Amino acid sequence: MQNPYDLIIIGGGPGGYEAAFRAAGAGMKTLLVEEQGIGGTCLNRGCIPTKTLMHASELYREAGRFEEFGLAAQNVSYDMVKMQERKAKVVEDLKDGIRQRLKSQKVEILQGHGMILGTGRVRVTVTAAGEGAAEEKILETERILIATGAVPARPPIPGLELPGVFTSDDLLDSDAGRQVYDPLIIIGGGVIGVEMATLYNALGCRVTLLEALPRLLPAMDREISQSLAMILKKRGVQIFTGAKVTRVAREEDGLVCHFEYKETPQSLPAAGILVAIGRKPYTGGLFAPGAEPAMERGALVVDGDFRTSIPGIYAAGDVIGGIQLAHAAAAEGITAVEGMAGLRPGIHLNVVPGCVYTNPEIASAGWTEEEAKAAGIPVVTGKALMSANGKSVIENQDRGFIKLVFDKETEVLLGAQLMCARATDLISELTNAIVNGLTRGQLAAVIRPHPTFSEAVTQAAEAALK
Ligand code: NAD
Repeated sequence: MQNPYDLIIIGGGPGGYEAAFRAAGAGMKTLLVEEQGIGGTCLNRGCIPTKTLMHASELYREAGRFEEFGLAAQNVSYDMVKMQERKAKVVEDLKDGIRQRLKSQKVEILQGHGMILGTGRVRVTVTAAGEGAAEEKILETERILIATGAVPARPPIPGLELPGVFTSDDLLDSDAGRQVYDPLIIIGGGVIGVEMATLYNALGCRVTLLEALPRLLPAMDREISQSLAMILKKRGVQIFTGAKVTRVAREEDGLVCHFEYKETPQSLPAAGILVAIGRKPYTGGLFAPGAEPAMERGALVVDGDFRTSIPGIYAAGDVIGGIQLAHAAAAEGITAVEGMAGLRPGIHLNVVPGCVYTNPEIASAGWTEEEAKAAGIPVVTGKALMSANGKSVIENQDRGFIKLVFDKETEVLLGAQLMCARATDLISELTNAIVNGLTRGQLAAVIRPHPTFSEAVTQAAEAALK
């Protein structure tokens, strides 16, 4: 046995590394085990790669709009290989930052596959010790935190194993992403689906979205789904909601996606097909026989303190199911560690903002009007249209709205749904307001600088009074 640790964390994504920082801060001797790259899905094949590519694609789209601003038209071209190279640099820089922070906080990192043998025992098959061949280490620890994340789910549709059918992992973290697929068919109109549709559409590709449910982003406010569908369609994205993909085949002219739409069989050719129908918790090879904690539909079951059914083994992030977002995983990992260390939890876990990096951006926190009504809570809503917001008009970003949902009786803010430029930043103010129980009056009483997108928050709060 080597080195008894206070905590071994398996999985180096935001859930794992943020937990490691907190544990080190609380004086725990901590080891972080990661089998692929530090940063997990978020940094290697999720949030950061997508947003880096989307930023470039939006610059490209903007170049096509120069004349709207009285500027000479620009004939700009793009190079996906170079865009991917820049993405790789952004990812590497951020990974370096995390590694350095872990080092400075004296968190040990082991690159390899971790397997839980039971309470307090982890076997790590080291894949990069920096010196020589793979080595197996059996390590002892007071506690274990599982933060192994999730992987793309693949529905049992015939043909999805064919070359040219991808998941977001392929397009964001492999050579497949160095090509551009035109036309591109995306199966799934959730968050990944609409972000990737935005990215490829901005680059001028023909994109089709096939969503099984009646609307895009089914978990979001209905008005957001409708507005987004309208904007995407206007830009040339083909959208089929209520579509049932039956099979994918490689035919004479290439890949063909067959689906049913309004009970009629349809088929469309594609240069590439992206499957984005959700992600499932990842626990591959994680438990020795007999060491599996309780699971439900593939997700580890935890209590309010992130304890699994096995003493000393905790879990946080995508692997426990629920909200699969980097910042939610980080908050859960930190909270789990605070519980282990006997500290008071410092983060409100009950309000998790969700952001979609389409153009315009979408963000939401707390309850939608529909959810509040379904729960029997009388609400009053206030809405500001961005067409009346100075900053939006200046930037020609005048589509969209900010909607605030207040408890009718107490006037406390219950939820916010935004679809506008910088929505993903503006949502923080509103999350703060929801968490701290701010009222309509308190929100409206704050001076917001002019001209800014945030002035629409004042307008929405005032509109709720009327
Ligand atoms: P998702 O759950 O957001 O969307 C999947 C969509 O696929 C749903 O709308 C679902 O109805 C649809 N679907 C399921 N089966 C289908 C089928 N056979 N045919 C057609 N449509 C089908 O999942 P995702 O977009 O794959 O994203 C995975 C996770 O990653 C989500 O939890 C998401 O929140 C997270 N994510 C977040 C961000 C962000 O925060 N900006 C970005 C990307 C991904």
